[in-house]
Amino acid sequence: MGPADDTETTGGLSSDVLRQLRRGTLERTVLENIRARNNPLQEPIGPYTGRCQYCESDKYMFDDAAIYGCTLCLSLYSSA
Ligand SMILES: [Zn+2]
Repeated sequence: MGPADDTETTGGLSSDVLRQLRRGTLERTVLENIRARNNPLQEPIGPYTGRCQYCESDKYMFDDAAIYGCTLCLSLYSSA
C-alpha cells in the first residue's frame, strides 16, 4: 500500500490516533477535531444520513443486508 492508499483507510489520521478512535479512548477534544474535519458543515449524522454517528465521516461507510458501518472508526450499526 502506498501513501494514497493509506489516506483512503485512515482519513489522514496517525496510526496512534486511529487506534484510539477505534477503541473509543480518544480525548474528547481530539474527537471533536476529527468530527469537525469530517463534517465541517455539521450535516445530520446517524441512520439514513450516510454519515457515521461516531466520527461523522461520510467517506468510509459500507453496508450490506444486515449491517452498515464505518471503516474509519469501525463503528457497526444494525440495518434492521
Ligand atoms: Zn466512523
